[in-house]
Amino acid sequence: MIPGTFSYHRPKSVQEAVSLLGQLGEDARPLAGGHSLIPMMKLRLAVPSDLVDLAGIADLRRISQEGGDIVIGAMTTQHEVIASDLLGEKIPILRETALLIADPQVRYVGTIGGNAANGDPGNDMPAVMMALGASYDLTGGSGTRSVAAREFYRGIYDTALGAGEMLTAIRIPMPASGHGFAYEKLKRKVGDYATAAAAVILTLSGGKVATCASGLTNVADRPLFAEEAAAIVTGSTLDDATVEKAVAAAEAITSPASDRRGTPQYRTKVAGVMVARALARAKSRAA
Ligand SMILES: Cc1cc2nc3c(=O)[nH]c(=O)nc-3n(C[C@H](O)[C@H](O)[C@H](O)COP(=O)(O)OP(=O)(O)OC[C@H]3O[C@@H](n4cnc5c(N)ncnc54)[C@H](O)[C@@H]3O)c2cc1C
Repeated sequence: MIPGTFSYHRPKSVQEAVSLLGQLGEDARPLAGGHSLIPMMKLRLAVPSDLVDLAGIADLRRISQEGGDIVIGAMTTQHEVIASDLLGEKIPILRETALLIADPQVRYVGTIGGNAANGDPGNDMPAVMMALGASYDLTGGSGTRSVAAREFYRGIYDTALGAGEMLTAIRIPMPASGHGFAYEKLKRKVGDYATAAAAVILTLSGGKVATCASGLTNVADRPLFAEEAAAIVTGSTLDDATVEKAVAAAEAITSPASDRRGTPQYRTKVAGVMVARALARAKSRAA
């Protein structure tokens, strides 16, 4: 219940933060809202030598439109995502998803960047970012590079973040107006992580699916991009037979752990149900 000893740093700029992370070495960790990291430290599952607190860097807390992208600074809280009129209008799946994360206390402090960068397959934002085709700005000593959310996750707590790098912003290409969206999450109780969850973004044309993308939460060692399931429904009217095939394709890529949320077989079936529900709800919302 008591974390190991660590040194605390509070940089005022991204440059100062990456310079600290570079100097302090791989046992130093960025600290965002602390709502994943601090519990891990209390359990001694994480024992960082240094915490580089990002809370004093004003540039990391913003939501803006830049050309055809919406850009969200890494230190934007989940509450700020929910409260943003711009996001509510342009990318409403983010508000829907953030409202399913934990409880208001956690959302006031937990950040979108911490949620995306954490590398826990139980976090809700990564699958949504995959469905949206988002990319992550990763900044280190030698500058900023962009990595697609679909390429970022490698395994449990294993991501494309390199030594001394931090996530500075999330870039989301503006979804087509009139797109349909849904994030369906089964959880045991309010505030719980997903037993399984599915994100769907789609567009319709002439009553048929013109484009579709889907991501899955907490049914493998990383969030999953359900590419084949989305390809199967594209061009269809989302008739029952097609949805059944898409569900089977989504279930086939899962490999959930057995835990208090259920057996692997159960969680795989729940993932399929979440995909079917998300497809139906996204269709009902599409113009
Ligand atoms: C009771 C409870 C219930 C929860 N339920 C859910 C839930 O249902 N769904 C869900 O998705 N989450 C849930 N969470 C987690 C919560 O959303 C966290 O806030 C989130 O996972 C991490 O964000 P943070 O800002 O707190 O990051 P932190 O805890 O500060 O950091 C998490 C990790 O990411 C790294 N990190 C943080 N920011 C950056 C950055 N900018 N660049 C690089 N690395 C960075 C840190 O070094 C650390 O390793 C829950 C938490 C609690 C306490």
